[in-house]
Amino acid sequence: MNITELARKLKITTKELKQKLPELGFDIGMKAIKVDEQIAQKIIQAWPELIKKFKKIETKEEKEEIKPKEEAIITIPPFITVHDFASSLNLPPAKVISELIKNGVLANINERIDYEIAAIVAEDLGFKVKKGTEEVEIKEKKREEIKKLIKKENKSKLILRPPVVAVMGHVDHGKTKLLDAIRETNVADKETGGITQHIGAYQIKKKERVITFIDTPGHEAFKTMRTRGGEVADIVVLVIAADEGIKPQTLESIKIIQEEKLPFLIAINKIDKPEADTERVKKELSEINLMPEDWGGKTICLKISAKTKEGLDELLEMILLLTDLEKEQLLVDPAQEPIGTVIEAHLDKNEGPVATVLIQAGTLKIKNLVVVGGIYGGTQGKIKALKDFQNQPIKRATPGMPVKILGLKKVPKTGDILQGLENIKELKRKIKEIKIKQTSTPVEIQTKSSSKEEKVKFLNIILRTDVLGSQEAISGALENIKHPEIKINIIKKGLGNILETDILRAETITQRGDKVWIVGFHVIASPQIITLAKEKNIEIKTYKIIYELIEDVKNELVKLLEPERIKTELGKVEVIALFRKEKNYQIVGGKIKEGRVLKDALAEIYRKEKIINKGIIKQLQITRQDVGEARAGSECGLKIEGQNLNIQMGDVLEIYQEEERIKKLED
Ligand code: GDP
Repeated sequence: MNITELARKLKITTKELKQKLPELGFDIGMKAIKVDEQIAQKIIQAWPELIKKFKKIETKEEKEEIKPKEEAIITIPPFITVHDFASSLNLPPAKVISELIKNGVLANINERIDYEIAAIVAEDLGFKVKKGTEEVEIKEKKREEIKKLIKKENKSKLILRPPVVAVMGHVDHGKTKLLDAIRETNVADKETGGITQHIGAYQIKKKERVITFIDTPGHEAFKTMRTRGGEVADIVVLVIAADEGIKPQTLESIKIIQEEKLPFLIAINKIDKPEADTERVKKELSEINLMPEDWGGKTICLKISAKTKEGLDELLEMILLLTDLEKEQLLVDPAQEPIGTVIEAHLDKNEGPVATVLIQAGTLKIKNLVVVGGIYGGTQGKIKALKDFQNQPIKRATPGMPVKILGLKKVPKTGDILQGLENIKELKRKIKEIKIKQTSTPVEIQTKSSSKEEKVKFLNIILRTDVLGSQEAISGALENIKHPEIKINIIKKGLGNILETDILRAETITQRGDKVWIVGFHVIASPQIITLAKEKNIEIKTYKIIYELIEDVKNELVKLLEPERIKTELGKVEVIALFRKEKNYQIVGGKIKEGRVLKDALAEIYRKEKIINKGIIKQLQITRQDVGEARAGSECGLKIEGQNLNIQMGDVLEIYQEEERIKKLED
């Protein structure tokens, strides 16, 4: 298209257009007369948006915001959403979008950009950039964020907050039983308690000192929380069953503990069982470089029984001892603005969004204004009520305390940071920023490999869980199962029991010919729902253990994988005689040019290097004698089966074998 025509369409002068285009990322040069048709169309489509954004970045106010601190280094993962990118630069998303446009990238707030483009923009804005993995980046960001928020200047005001302990380990090794046993024996004020509430954490008293225990639904949940950067645990108790020893999830837990550099101790559980073998566990530990203390190493190992409660006192005392070594980290200012991390959240029918927050510094009070999940995308609210883990209303939550909060506008995510606000003005400013995000419409990003995508098979999942923590843990774990040929598509997530709408939704998916599972975790399907599902041929799967759920999904996925065909080339034969031609077979004479021919092998028929047909060698003869194999140099007779083969003199038969192998999901 002529540049003049384009300018006319955009209602500006040619000169203006030529000046503006490079600034907007379309560098066509000042001397250009024509613009490539495709680029012209792109410019026309994007023009109103471009101009709007362009004008915005010109405003003085926005210009002043680009003042990164000296030496600010940010870590950018291989892919990052514009929203997350803006938060890590601490700039409004609109600003970042306009910077992207300057670089010729049109992306809205929810779209993902890759490291290269993000790095260019960040550097333009004066940041130093480091490439990171997605997980590390999120973790580091959260950690830095919390560190920045926890103020330690007021030395005389600092108090020692209770340590936060997480229990990890392989499924069935006794984590829940241990948490229950500690809770039963040590909960401070049983009188007021009564109702056993699992809000994600609880507190106990030992020797007049308080310890907070994280009580998450399981290993996967904890992992998700950690990868989300919920830097909450100070100490980990790793449970290993004395009758089973180290198992895959034990190793996984050790990996997390080591990556996070967390102080930990090992509780060898179930010592009441006759088959318990603590020495074997210690031996296994020593084999993975965790030499137990009584074997001359540094790993603290305690023998316990969550069932008989033997060893629990020692365990708690040891936790306190470890806490004393971590004092520096536990010193916080109770008078600062409250800071906390969400460890559990769900939507309650009566109470609305409910979240359990672990207060890390400051004191959270009723009527406090809070923002949860960051200023650019989370939720906010005024604290209506605070409840402790025994469901008792309280007026304030101090550092180290898990507290259920009511009053948020939306359900936050596990790992989100809660931040108290100083005043309404600050809240209003932050809400305005949040709104910028919410007015942008989410767009499905087209993947470049759409032709490849067509080959991908989907296992669609409708997921129902009891609480948000498990929902996030499960979807996180499922999304982690990656394979080029198969994909898990969580089409719907919900809290609470399986409903008729889930069945109907699943039905529409099966009608399209796609596979769908309704997966429930700690929820049920009523008999009516089960009957309806049976009628409609919809599979409902319910679980109590995340690990089993994940394993089942993996096994199902393997079934979707096409078996791999492994082709082994055997040899080449030149056709030198034609004996008989029928509709479904042909008999020819050939000279083996290379390799060998086997009876029952397959043959591809080539003419002038082009494949024209395929067949199978049903009979092989040398000097009219049936043989199983013939080698290079010999002449042979071949009966090849196949429809309308039409083999001609001079054709080349490429002989091969094919084997099917069931593919596996790599871990
Ligand atoms: P989790 O998956 O790690 O939370 O394991 P659970 O706490 O659910 O325990 C798994 C099973 O082991 C349950 O049947 C418990 O009753 C049992 N269990 C846990 N601790 C002990 C123990 O110290 N001794 C015995 N004999 N059984 C235990």
